[in-house]
Amino acid sequence: MTGKIIKGISGFYYVYTKEAGIIECKARGIFRNQGKKPLVGDDVEVSLTDGDGHTGSIESILPRRSELIRPAVANINQALVIFAAKQPDPSFNLLDRFLCMMEYRQISVIICFNKSDLITDEETQELKAIYKAGGYRVLITSALTGQGTDELGYLLTGHTTTVAGPSGAGKSSLINSLFGEQMAAIGEISVKLGRGKHTTRHSEILPLDEDTFLVDTPGFSSLEMPDILPEQLGNYYREFEIYEPYCRFGGCCHINEPDCGVKQALADGMIHPIRYENYRLLYEELKDTRRY
Ligand code: GDP
Ligand code: ZN
Repeated sequence: MTGKIIKGISGFYYVYTKEAGIIECKARGIFRNQGKKPLVGDDVEVSLTDGDGHTGSIESILPRRSELIRPAVANINQALVIFAAKQPDPSFNLLDRFLCMMEYRQISVIICFNKSDLITDEETQELKAIYKAGGYRVLITSALTGQGTDELGYLLTGHTTTVAGPSGAGKSSLINSLFGEQMAAIGEISVKLGRGKHTTRHSEILPLDEDTFLVDTPGFSSLEMPDILPEQLGNYYREFEIYEPYCRFGGCCHINEPDCGVKQALADGMIHPIRYENYRLLYEELKDTRRY
């Protein structure tokens, strides 16, 4: 049968299967077969080795669709980034960093502003406007009133999603309100296995149902930009693309050059000032780190 590796702990992999729940597999042996190290998120072929129905071995790794380096997780389809709309105020700079990282890794992003019960309709429209030109999907939710949560649940179902956002944004509240019951049921199975036997925790995937999984993105508050060259940063701002042909200079960085299509679009209100301002800040930052 097939399943997904949801956790790897010192010499064991835990594989979630539709048929038999969570199966504990020894990591040994499998490297020889394929010369490939399994990652959390890998879809694998498993066979049961014991009568108890909870122990088995990994026979093979199914082809990977994608691979994230940090955290080391395979087969992520999409990312969800959650900020509070208020309390605390969202950091648009941090959000842009995250968006650039995901553009770089070619993972699509759902942006979620939670705690919508704390903002006015006007403020809601303002938040949506910032990311509209970039073509991002922006969800406005409240774990308190339930606004937008059905749509969020729908977008997560059937996917493996990496979830990010600063603490206090309401990530646990949202996930619990959506998937609390399933998680409690699966939690009971995993308590019986493994828990307490090993102490170190590695990357872990949360199964919500047989084809819906969540991955925690650690270290969100100090997002390092990946190996992006300053002059390439503009490629990761999707809304710049249609205006770049109007820049006078090829390879225009849209900072100090004259006759810049992007700056013209900014002046015309086609590119949001918050997005452009963060572009400029990230550009300067990338340039400084390269100046050794
Ligand atoms: P996390 O750190 O991102 O997991 O955030 P939590 O889920 O722990 O929520 C942080 C705080 O915000 C808690 O006190 C929640 O009760 C509160 N909170 C979460 N969602 C909402 C919401 O939609 N509206 C309001 N007003 N408060 C919320
Ligand atoms: Zn330009």
